[in-house]
Amino acid sequence: MTMTATALQVSEAVQSVRPVSKFERVPCYYCEATESVPFLTAQDDLTGKPGTFSFITCARCGLRYQNPRLSIEHVKEFYDQEYIAHRKKTSWGPLTGFFNWVMDRHDRQKEKLVLRYVALDRESEVLDVGCAVGTFLQKVRARYGARVVGVDFKDLRGCATLEGVEFHCGLFYEQPLERERFDAITMWHFLEHDYDPVRTLQTAKSLLKSSGYLVIEVPRLDSLTFRLYGNRWPGLQAPQHTVLYDREMLLRMVQKAGLEVVDYLPYGAFPAFFYFFAGAAFKLLKGKGLNLSKAIYPYFVGQILFAPILAFEKQLNFAMQTVVCRSCEKNRPV
Ligand SMILES: [Zn+2]
Repeated sequence: MTMTATALQVSEAVQSVRPVSKFERVPCYYCEATESVPFLTAQDDLTGKPGTFSFITCARCGLRYQNPRLSIEHVKEFYDQEYIAHRKKTSWGPLTGFFNWVMDRHDRQKEKLVLRYVALDRESEVLDVGCAVGTFLQKVRARYGARVVGVDFKDLRGCATLEGVEFHCGLFYEQPLERERFDAITMWHFLEHDYDPVRTLQTAKSLLKSSGYLVIEVPRLDSLTFRLYGNRWPGLQAPQHTVLYDREMLLRMVQKAGLEVVDYLPYGAFPAFFYFFAGAAFKLLKGKGLNLSKAIYPYFVGQILFAPILAFEKQLNFAMQTVVCRSCEKNRPV
């Protein structure tokens, strides 16, 4: 009995240092084909957790996606306290002020993008899918008085920044949200993490008002930073990223879900500089993981040196892409 218990404990300990053993194979997210050819293998360059992860190219439609993938239960451990979107604002030492400015700038860029398409006011309802600690929603609520709803699969209910946000924890397409409720739905770096993107997009379509807009930002595979860094490209973010979208497949995916493409932008709210910086660091570190607390100093210096190039972020195809959609209702008022 004692021996069995010990054996079990050893087995659990081995599993806990080898979290990559919980894989499942998945057919293509776009066309459901199972035939594929290898694309590349990647490591968890961001945190340095062990494991090698495979991305493949669908032989039928060309979608690049991670296969096999970690089951949803096991990918959760990769969204730990180090995950940047979930970090508390006060944990950056003497550069906390700079970090907060960078994060706040990121939220302002999101706000600017949304405002191009939707006029926000007290009557507006805004949903952010994959809202993390909710700072973007908080900004929209404070500035426009809009009603704000956030969904995240991580339970972040204790966060002060989610105060006043209608927060739903769990998978987006399982939430009991009212149909045709929202003026704006945003997905900032969410869709590339999703385990069922077509279902997510169809859900978003059903929740949009006929006048509403869906704004989706994801990393762009056919970009300069991918060509520079290949299997150390930060947009791979293995194992969290399930799908790697180039422009064509992103547009095909939203159209498959019945959405109408209103606009396509070769940039996003997320700073392209992070991909230039992190890609170079990942090349040097070769899977050892990036210490964000130390990296913030060279990041700060690099951003100043890169400023002349980054001025062209919106014209050049560095790293990000944004697609803006609405539901294609036949009887839409003109
Ligand atoms: Zn396919």
